[in-house]
Amino acid sequence: MLLGVLALQGDSREHIHLLETLDVAAVAVRDAADLSAIDGLVIPGGESTTISKLLEIFDLLDPIRSFAKTRPVLGTCAGLILLSDEVEGLLQGQQLIGGLPIISSRNAYGGQLNSFEATVTFSSGEEENVAFIRAPKILDSDSTEVIARLGDEAVAVRSNNLFGASFHPELTGGTHLHKLFIEFVKETKS
Ligand code: GLN
Repeated sequence: MLLGVLALQGDSREHIHLLETLDVAAVAVRDAADLSAIDGLVIPGGESTTISKLLEIFDLLDPIRSFAKTRPVLGTCAGLILLSDEVEGLLQGQQLIGGLPIISSRNAYGGQLNSFEATVTFSSGEEENVAFIRAPKILDSDSTEVIARLGDEAVAVRSNNLFGASFHPELTGGTHLHKLFIEFVKETKS
């Protein structure tokens, strides 16, 4: 199994490192040809407005849109925003990949100075400390499976082949979300 991590902007290196500590080979994805070799894609946190401009510049927007129609994709933070079908606070002209049937609200957990670490609870009951950095809220998760919550609020969801989380597990050593994603990729391969 080989996973790709979109590496145009954001913390792609941390995701590659985390996947490697879980014994999964991972490569940086920078152009459409890179997509043909991978079994699943991680879209890291960073700045969704910048990532979306770079997706257009590097001719990756449509290839990733078609990849995300059937193949496993995990988006964290800015990655979650890009996978959302609808976004509050979208910059004019900002393009989305879409496919995840949620409304996400950019920066709704606060700006950079309000970034925080918190314990989220996965649906398995497992708890994990993760980082929220200019994080988006998931406003409507009714059409998805909620896989983690912060208090009552959904902060990680799945719909078919698409996984999204408001937080950064890779910055605090959280592994649970990536393990769920890896399990799913293995199932789709077998
Ligand atoms: N608020 C950022 C955005 O709109 C996301 C922040 C992050 O990925 N840590 O893209």
